Amino acid sequence: MTSFQNFTEDQEKVMAKVLKPFKGFFDLVILDPTLASGDKYKVFGKFNKKKKHLKINPHVFASPDFVDETNGRRMTMLEYVLLHEIAHEIYKTMDGEELAKWNELSGWTMKPPNETNYSNLIIPDDGVEKISDWYFLNVAEPSFPRWYAKFSPEEQFCDCWTFVYKDLLGRMKGNIGARIINFINELG
Ligand SMILES: [Zn+2]
Repeated sequence: MTSFQNFTEDQEKVMAKVLKPFKGFFDLVILDPTLASGDKYKVFGKFNKKKKHLKINPHVFASPDFVDETNGRRMTMLEYVLLHEIAHEIYKTMDGEELAKWNELSGWTMKPPNETNYSNLIIPDDGVEKISDWYFLNVAEPSFPRWYAKFSPEEQFCDCWTFVYKDLLGRMKGNIGARIINFINELG
């Protein structure tokens, strides 16, 4: 049973529903206002795996829902944060062959063979830039359901898994998007 701290009763109900299939994943979910102050770029959730504690940034309640324009389905930022953290654990269950196949779908590499066909994510951050070492094929661009998915194969997996789980499939567009959805569905 997951405990909640600092949330309203309605917010707790929403989270209990999301977490029902993932019993025991979080021991405690805490709404933590300190995450909302002085952030360089917004960290919406912070997971302490050892304690099984998830801290949530109150900014989740000010963020717009994710919408799939093809079917009108929506996901709140709160749901997204819970599911994205769970997806990190699912990512860790993949074997070497599955990981290689995942990376291949978007052309992930740390050594891009050229600069024309590849991009990496640069997060502007009060004059300091956070630059990802991971490069993806430009043609994969429409398949990313959210900008942060461009940071690394793992973040992309967690985001894609979450959007597939919530059936917001229209967020992963194009041929590569279709192959990504297929990959995640086949993982079971
Ligand atoms: Zn993540």
